[in-house]
Amino acid sequence: MAANAIEIRGLTKTYEGQGKSPAKQALSNVDLDIPQGSVFGLLGPNGAGKSTLINILAGLVVKTAGQVTIWGFDQDHNPRQSRASIGVMPQELNLDPFFTPRGALEVQAGLYGVPRKQRRSDEILRLIGLEDKADAYARTLSGGMRRRLLLGKALVHHPHILVLDEPTAGVDIELRQMLWENVRQLNREGMTIILTTHYLEEAEEMCDEIAIINLGKVVARDSTSNLLGRLDVKTMIIQPGGPVETLPQGSGLTVSRRDGGAIEITYHSAKTPAETVLAAVREAGISIRDVKTEQADLQDVFLELTRSR
Ligand code: ADP
Ligand code: MG
Repeated sequence: MAANAIEIRGLTKTYEGQGKSPAKQALSNVDLDIPQGSVFGLLGPNGAGKSTLINILAGLVVKTAGQVTIWGFDQDHNPRQSRASIGVMPQELNLDPFFTPRGALEVQAGLYGVPRKQRRSDEILRLIGLEDKADAYARTLSGGMRRRLLLGKALVHHPHILVLDEPTAGVDIELRQMLWENVRQLNREGMTIILTTHYLEEAEEMCDEIAIINLGKVVARDSTSNLLGRLDVKTMIIQPGGPVETLPQGSGLTVSRRDGGAIEITYHSAKTPAETVLAAVREAGISIRDVKTEQADLQDVFLELTRSR
């Protein structure tokens, strides 16, 4: 058994231009190892190349160059085994409206050559909470139910690796929580999970390790805690109760005035507690009318990463 669920070397994808649209290089020489048993996050803004990478893993997009090994199977030399090792929940809802959830799971299992005896449609229906909709037409299902069915379809062939492409983009909180509970449970049972998202907080909550991808390149790859530790810069914005004569000061604090009279203080939250910042504000004789904090988000991550390079 391979130590890495996925090994990617020199992966490059150029989409051919069509008509007036020029060729587009979506991935440039990507190297990436994804450890077995992890919940691995692939983060990046729209157009970064996340879906391209995932669709190559899923065998839906043909790479231009490079090598992909899935669960120890080279994708070019062992296409069948590498494909059987991975299940993908796609970004878009592509369901046949005339199938029932049970029917859709059975057909998918058939496509993957799962023998009837090894099928476990009932277990999957239970996991995705669609037992009582098992025999309803897909067109009568809500958007959230359809998305859960897509998750179920990705699981029919017992893959070692589950890939979710933006599973929570535009879904409500309840469904998001249900999806995450499912994913956590599957991971506890040993499944390697790869998900893409452009929500940093989601990656922070769910993922052990993260790769940040931007303009078709991996710009960072680290454990979630290391990555966030690099960017624990917080900003506190104070609305003073009256005019401010002296600005607060203190070690580790960077203080400036904002338009409209607010004071902006940036600090590293790992080193400086918020209480210290507030104390410095009070010491400067400033009464606090309102206060809010801003955290580094994905945008800051990119700025930070491109600056330090
Ligand atoms: P992400 O999933 O991170 O938003 P994608 O992998 O979908 O990014 O897209 C990466 C780049 O490749 C984008 O510039 C996108 O416009 C382009 N692209 C994606 N799919 C195609 C395609 N089928 N043909 C041409 N260009 C594409
Ligand atoms: Mg995408």
